[in-house]
Amino acid sequence: MLPIFFLIFILGASFGSFFSLFYRRRERGEDFILKKSYCESCNRKLKFFDLVPIFSYIKNRGTCKYCGSKIPRDLLYFEIIYGLIFLLNLSLYGLTINFIIRSLEISLLFLISYTDLKTGYIYTMDNIFLFILEIVFQIINKINIFASLKFGLIFFGIFLLIHLLTRAMGFGDVELSLVGGFFARDFFSLLRIFTSSFTLAACFGLILIFFRKKSLKESLPFGPFLALGILIEIVLGENLWRFYTFI
Ligand SMILES: [Zn+2]
Repeated sequence: MLPIFFLIFILGASFGSFFSLFYRRRERGEDFILKKSYCESCNRKLKFFDLVPIFSYIKNRGTCKYCGSKIPRDLLYFEIIYGLIFLLNLSLYGLTINFIIRSLEISLLFLISYTDLKTGYIYTMDNIFLFILEIVFQIINKINIFASLKFGLIFFGIFLLIHLLTRAMGFGDVELSLVGGFFARDFFSLLRIFTSSFTLAACFGLILIFFRKKSLKESLPFGPFLALGILIEIVLGENLWRFYTFI
């Protein structure tokens, strides 16, 4: 059993490597699919052994082995977190198609959160990919897509109203809310996503104000909290609920 967990962690970490590259290249407006991996400082092409996730980073102490310049930290964050995401889904779903879809979905949720935290922007493209993955998940698991779509639209309406009335929330958040609502299976599930994301945002905001990192007037990127709300619903809502009805 242990080798499987190790392999899946490495697989997830490799995905993290790819996604962190994707994230940085997109921010710089570079070709993010076709261009080979290279050092962003000295432009040396990287060989296979320079690309082993986490291990390469630690071995070279976070620097490029050719020119010694610092490798962006987000590479390591992505690798570790994606490894953990894949492990989490392996323990929830086993080696099934659900494991693959959920891993990709949560990977995208992390990408969306990270981009929102760093740049204050949520890409429509990421929301669309997340939406498509969830449609596939629901078809495979014979979930009523139209019911889910109803919850998506309810969420969309609420967030659109907040966006129009307060202007504190960007339209990227409104788009993400449509996808977030689509993850709900019933009203309670929708309510859980709503309350958990707003509670987390409020707590986090209060902590930041308390430590004087932010003032009351500054806005907080909401994407990461919505993403956390969806994650909690996927992990706790869906799986614990199934567990409770089972016992
Ligand atoms: Zn270099």
